[in-house]
Amino acid sequence: MSGNLTLPIIKRAQTQQQHPAIIDAQGEYSHAQLLSASQKIAAGLLQGRPDLQEARVALMVPPGFEYAAALWGAWLAGGVALPLCISHPAPELEYVLQDSAAETVLVHPLFEEKLRPLAGKLNIRFLLTREASSAEECPLPAIAESRRAMILYTSGTTSRPKGVVTTHRNITSQITTLIDAWGWTAEDRILHVLPLHHTHGIINALLCPLWAGAACEMLPQFDAGTVWDRFIQGKITVFMAVPTVYIKLIEFWENATEEEQRKMSQACAGMRLMVSGSAALPVSIFEKWKAISGHALLERYGMTEIGMALSNPLHGERRPGCIGLPLPRVQIRLVDESGKEVNDEETPGEIQVKGENVFLEYWRRPEATREAFAEGWFRTGDVAVVESGYYRILGRSSVDIIKTGGYKVSALEIEEILRSHPCIKECAVVGVEDSEWGERVCAAVVLNGVNSLNLEELRRWAKEKLAAYKIPSRLLVVDELPRNVMGKVTKPEVKGLFRD
Ligand code: AMP
Repeated sequence: MSGNLTLPIIKRAQTQQQHPAIIDAQGEYSHAQLLSASQKIAAGLLQGRPDLQEARVALMVPPGFEYAAALWGAWLAGGVALPLCISHPAPELEYVLQDSAAETVLVHPLFEEKLRPLAGKLNIRFLLTREASSAEECPLPAIAESRRAMILYTSGTTSRPKGVVTTHRNITSQITTLIDAWGWTAEDRILHVLPLHHTHGIINALLCPLWAGAACEMLPQFDAGTVWDRFIQGKITVFMAVPTVYIKLIEFWENATEEEQRKMSQACAGMRLMVSGSAALPVSIFEKWKAISGHALLERYGMTEIGMALSNPLHGERRPGCIGLPLPRVQIRLVDESGKEVNDEETPGEIQVKGENVFLEYWRRPEATREAFAEGWFRTGDVAVVESGYYRILGRSSVDIIKTGGYKVSALEIEEILRSHPCIKECAVVGVEDSEWGERVCAAVVLNGVNSLNLEELRRWAKEKLAAYKIPSRLLVVDELPRNVMGKVTKPEVKGLFRD
């Protein structure tokens, strides 16, 4: 084995070489194979250079062995990995590639058609994964843990998505916290169904098992029937998803025959841990899932900027509707509107976080980075309260951040896009509580009276324009909403339009 394998996660893989690491549609790959493939990709990225020196390497690779090898390859070469969302349309990818000043885009042949012209236009090196991995292994740079490792794009309220930069030390801290709290071992096998441009899919569901020497079985995308089939086939010990996924699994179970239901429920008995997060888990879903699977879902709270911060316990009470307690080595405080720390139960405050898990900066946005911290504490913008020792989320401090199906989207960005429609004079967008999606994206729209526009046309148009936000089928217009729901909307702009 060549190279200078200094990174903690890579060193860990060397201790479990023969264990399966990744299982995908192509087969099963050991940790040794993953190490070897990532070193080749690193050599392909370096092409004779000693160190990428934090050059941004964008990855457009579907879930599977090649994704993990590409991520580690970028790190081993000294690059900053920038996992792209494989379902994003070209304009969104272009924004991310430009904003990050990516040097290289490493692309699976599946996405060549989409990415090659974009790379040409932006003058970015285009490298196919199979070309990169045919390179001869070469000496690899030593990487200090303080170096930048990854950029993930996340929506804010006031601007386009920002790049959240984490260092290798941040990532190690985010992983080891969960290894300790959730009892990962080399005997685990997770079924991975999450997007791989988001912290949940990358840190919690891929890097944790790899760190533990466990196996990660990756599906190309979520499909309820396939997930139940895999549970029934056995071997899976851990599953993690957003609440919307559990809702889809429940629907599938409810539509099955009694015999099938029995098999599905029995299959869950063999698993050790089922986790929900990235959005609030409704208590009704917690209860339904418990009745179906026998598992009390472990709900946790986290964010792209901090990894995971609070979690219900592995052993002990998992309280429905609550996000539990601070995770190991993560410091939490609640701060009220006047900036004072809350020290009693039942008084709400903004969750603020400190620890090695907290990100380094927003990429090339020093101002936004400064504003995100108060006295060294990261301000999450989520308001919570402590009740009998457990934290419970009350909501976000900004109505302009919507969480739909586990995705964070900015209401202001959607408003901008809707306003570009030739028939729309004004609009206001909010998230409206929804049992399936957490929140649905809802638009109050005022037409300019020049042309007529019906709802179906608007939906069709929005489906294309908003594809990057993964919300088209969830866009509602106020007309469709019952008055009692509209009554709960607090955003003044919506109320204003509604009166027009
Ligand atoms: P992201 O950076 O996309 O992971 O989004 C982070 C946001 O998701 C947080 O700031 C919360 O608003 C929300 N979130 C994550 N986990 C939970 C949870 N268990 N309950 C409620 N909201 C959550």
